[in-house]
Amino acid sequence: MSADYRPMWTKLGLNLEKHDVLLGAVGQMYTGTYLSQKHRPEGMAYFDFVISEVHGLRIQEIVAAREAGRIVVGSFCTFVPEELILALDGVSVGLCAGAEWATDAAERYVPRNTCALIKSAFGFTADKVCPYLAVSTLIVGENTCDGKKKGWERFGDLVPNLYVIDLPQKKSDEGRALLRKEYQRFAEKLVELAKQPLTVEKLKAAIQTVNAKRLAMHRLDTLRQAEPAPISGLDVLLANQVFFYDDPVRFTTSVNKICDELEARIAKGEGVAPKSAPRLVVSGCPMAVPNWKIHAIVEQAGGVVVGDESCVGARGTQGLTDGSANTLEGLLDAIVDRYLGIDCAIFSPNPTRLEHLQAIARDAKADGVLLYTLQFCTPYLMESQAFETKLETGKVPALRIDTDYSNADSGQLKTRIEAFLERVAR
Ligand code: SF4
Ligand code: SF4
Repeated sequence: MSADYRPMWTKLGLNLEKHDVLLGAVGQMYTGTYLSQKHRPEGMAYFDFVISEVHGLRIQEIVAAREAGRIVVGSFCTFVPEELILALDGVSVGLCAGAEWATDAAERYVPRNTCALIKSAFGFTADKVCPYLAVSTLIVGENTCDGKKKGWERFGDLVPNLYVIDLPQKKSDEGRALLRKEYQRFAEKLVELAKQPLTVEKLKAAIQTVNAKRLAMHRLDTLRQAEPAPISGLDVLLANQVFFYDDPVRFTTSVNKICDELEARIAKGEGVAPKSAPRLVVSGCPMAVPNWKIHAIVEQAGGVVVGDESCVGARGTQGLTDGSANTLEGLLDAIVDRYLGIDCAIFSPNPTRLEHLQAIARDAKADGVLLYTLQFCTPYLMESQAFETKLETGKVPALRIDTDYSNADSGQLKTRIEAFLERVAR
């Protein structure tokens, strides 16, 4: 890190001792996983910098924004519409929940058999090690799976500023009406906190900003599909993770710069792995920072991840918001339409997720699919069983992986993934 941020962390109420341990562990993981990769695009230096300053410079920027009177909205899910936050001059940050942390403290609030993501959110909060959480004006939870839905009831005991968005379980007219009502209520809450009106001009501009960010990721997703793969799955995963908390305009520029570089690589036939490397798509639960476990195992074993069907991936960045309406009502309708398209496993039925996954696997010329789920995540576990059958029937080899954030099963996963790579070898 470039400066001494301890006074800032103290002011934010962090537990400095535990925070030091966390930063040390993440730094070590990053060095071992990311900096050891070969042939990385030069543009990834930006993301190396972002990670090295993840609790430093970015937090300093956000603290400054808050001191200047802007709202900061922290969220755990891709259903929280960033467009509304930006339209009110707010800062939108993803709250990571991607590492095993303070499990004992978390289990004082939620049962042992709760998914690692929810436990992580509780662990980080209870231990006071997340500056993003500390700097948030509002922390947004959403009623998706049962774990989150009931978890928020306990999470409210830990933070004073929790706001819960109710989400539909069906993509029906009634489901759409519920989401519309909830986004309207959320917009009103943001207006009250930001102490400024929501205007058509500002909402249109925010829609454009977020669309540009998604378009940059669409471009990256298309380029990564080249043969040989011009960028590692680990590096694209990192971009997908940083998507949630970086300044959106700066992020878009940085991703587009990497895309320019990849286009040049593709023209020269250069890649990060040989053409013969087995190509996999990873599909399932979101992977927040610093959850790099599966991609690291695949790529260290000689495979390459060429697609991510995940909320921290193509599911999260899928689709654009139509910003052509000239009324707030019309723009809000367009936001609802875009977000209702997310094929999260909480929806039942949820046919578009499998269709999307099959399209990614086809376009990426994938040799197989890893169906990644966190233990105790009923929605994704249920879907992964059905997906395995359907993919295999369609002659797409699939491997189901149920895991958590610990490294206890790394050896076993490595063996299973290596065997799968042999099965799909080119
Ligand atoms: S999987 Fe569903 S609940 Fe989880 S982040 Fe994605 S949209 Fe939200
Ligand atoms: S990983 Fe599964 S159980 Fe955990 S929060 Fe997401 S949908 Fe819920």
